[in-house]
Amino acid sequence: MAASTQTHFRACNLCEAICGLEVEVRDNRVVSIRGDEHDPFSRGYICPKAMALGDIQDDPDRLRRPVRRTRGGDWIEISWSEALDETADRIRATRAQHGADALAIYLGNPNVHSLGAMLYGPPFLRSIRTRNRFSATSVDQLPHHVAARFMFGHQLLLPVPDVDRTDFLLMLGANPIASNGSLMTAPGIRRRLAALERRGGRLVVVDPRRSETAEVAQRHIYIRPGTDALLLMAMLQVILAEGLERPGRLETITTPLDEVRRLSQPFTPERVAVATGIAAVDIASLARDFAGATTAACYGRVGVSTQRFGGLCQWLINVLNIVTGNLDRPGGSMFTNPAVDAVARSGRGQLGRWHSRVRGLPEFGGELPAAALAEEILEPGDGQVRALLTIAGNPVLSTPNGGQLETALPQLDFMASIDFYLNETTRHADIILPPTAPLERDHYDVVFHLLAVENSAKFSPAALAPPADALHDWQIVAELHRRLGAGPIHQRALHAFSRWAGPRGLLDLGLRFGPHGAGLNPFRRGLSLRRLERSRHGVHLGALEPCLPARLRTSDRRIQLAPAELTADLPRLRASLEAPPLEPVAGDLLLIGRRHLRSNNSWMHNLPRLVRGRSRCTLLMHPEDAGARALRNGQSVALISRVGRVVAPLELSDRIMPGVVSLPHGWGHHRAGARLTTAAQHAGASANDVTDDLVVDALCGTAAVNGVPVRVEAA
Ligand code: SF4
Repeated sequence: MAASTQTHFRACNLCEAICGLEVEVRDNRVVSIRGDEHDPFSRGYICPKAMALGDIQDDPDRLRRPVRRTRGGDWIEISWSEALDETADRIRATRAQHGADALAIYLGNPNVHSLGAMLYGPPFLRSIRTRNRFSATSVDQLPHHVAARFMFGHQLLLPVPDVDRTDFLLMLGANPIASNGSLMTAPGIRRRLAALERRGGRLVVVDPRRSETAEVAQRHIYIRPGTDALLLMAMLQVILAEGLERPGRLETITTPLDEVRRLSQPFTPERVAVATGIAAVDIASLARDFAGATTAACYGRVGVSTQRFGGLCQWLINVLNIVTGNLDRPGGSMFTNPAVDAVARSGRGQLGRWHSRVRGLPEFGGELPAAALAEEILEPGDGQVRALLTIAGNPVLSTPNGGQLETALPQLDFMASIDFYLNETTRHADIILPPTAPLERDHYDVVFHLLAVENSAKFSPAALAPPADALHDWQIVAELHRRLGAGPIHQRALHAFSRWAGPRGLLDLGLRFGPHGAGLNPFRRGLSLRRLERSRHGVHLGALEPCLPARLRTSDRRIQLAPAELTADLPRLRASLEAPPLEPVAGDLLLIGRRHLRSNNSWMHNLPRLVRGRSRCTLLMHPEDAGARALRNGQSVALISRVGRVVAPLELSDRIMPGVVSLPHGWGHHRAGARLTTAAQHAGASANDVTDDLVVDALCGTAAVNGVPVRVEAA
């Protein structure tokens, strides 16, 4: 009898856009994946990566059972109980001998795209009580959290640009046409930006490269890498000096402007023009245009976060939105009202409760900067990291000076990885515990509904049945928690309840007691898991609405415009005016990253449909810079920094400003011992083999992987 085809509607959880998918399945195999036209948020949009969800399922390199590395370096399959017991025993032994901090944990980006990881990871991490926790946050968006914590009182109160209603969108260091939006969940962003233009609005992109988003903008302004904080300060100076501020109702819930006015005074457009590479007259007119727009939103992403002044950039972006009255109003920068409210259920975030042992970098939200991981393994002494657990991460490719980490990992006493790939990092593990694949799990996006440009909710039941003996990520974490977890009795009781309830049970509670929830009253209108399951395409919960001051978590329920924790970093910015810290030595260039629609950081290069065609891992350089070095298009060039050297083909383009080169991140799949057959055939070079672990944003320790001084020569 022919098997019937079932259609599943779910949200794609590969990136932040959470597009609705229509997945056809027959015989427990994916037949087709299309955009779900009836998804109330994404309205049919998908990108090429969605098609690859089925390819992950069938990838012959995907690990399906736990494996242990033998003394000879081979891998053998072992049972789940063996793998979990041995992992717990080895971790326990390391901690008993060297203390709790001898275990480090690294969390990769896919964790925030997994319901199970988001529900079961945090209690597990709390129970482990190591100070050596690291994650991809500190090579990405940490400055957003730090600014939000000190201005709005909670690390997750991240304003989102109201792209669908704004008249003026100012973007710095962001390329949503390639990324599909980041900390701005906006599926189909190209359509949304086209609509902005159609209604007479303007998109202005500030970036050292004429990115794919800059190509569709009404204006693109080149800026020297790492100087965005100077530009933002100068815009603020113009607005406040010319009396263009109009905070409106925000004035009553914000600390006074005076301090910001005083702090901005030294940063005139004339003084920052040389450093930024933007003429003073252009800075002033940009400030006036922004302040004069009917509604406006300033938004900056990874290019401004992962630089030496990332914390100041995110603070200043918020300040600019506030002083022009554009925070918390339609068309400005707004907060969401998600069905499961992580703001209500997570810590506010603290900075600097402890510091890394070797370099003294500050903790934020319980995590140390990833730039410090390798040295914490390599440097002997009390508190040295001797065991590592990675969860869905590949820090060898994702964190600065990946080569150093590669040297460090073999020196660990023990390493385990929860991952379904034997990748450039997990190949150093002693045991790998592979979870189920995305389509085999239930999903609800706890994180990205919080960052979306519209309020919506969607539950995605698993589309495929996992193999009988497979474990989900949350089950692996819960099993390790059960074996390792100590703590007070109430925590253990809570853990036992969570395991009993499962992600569905916990999600149901989150929905019922969220802002749109039904509570426990069966007759009350509102969300519960059962009601959400009945809406297979998801539910629309309305446009973003003003919510301040109610949503603020500051102790006085006011926005802190100039918190001391952030403004303390201004002397460093002022000093950069005198001696620009990123001024390369003669002949050198500044390296920035870039992203491609078909890439998802480091982990989807093993899927043939996403890597076919010409190589994307090229070094972009302006023809003037190539001419000065007698380099020609297509030739192999060596890119050399303080920490390493990589070789990549040269791509000449006038879409990058002179003095700057760009290499995408996430490549470098040539390492022996990884089992990524397709990725190895399209290896590319890892940008993080030349980014520098010692160069961080001093405010919060975020890796400054943009603006790295490099030399380029014929290979
Ligand atoms: S944009 Fe992101 S969420 Fe949407 S289909 Fe592509 S990978 Fe999935």
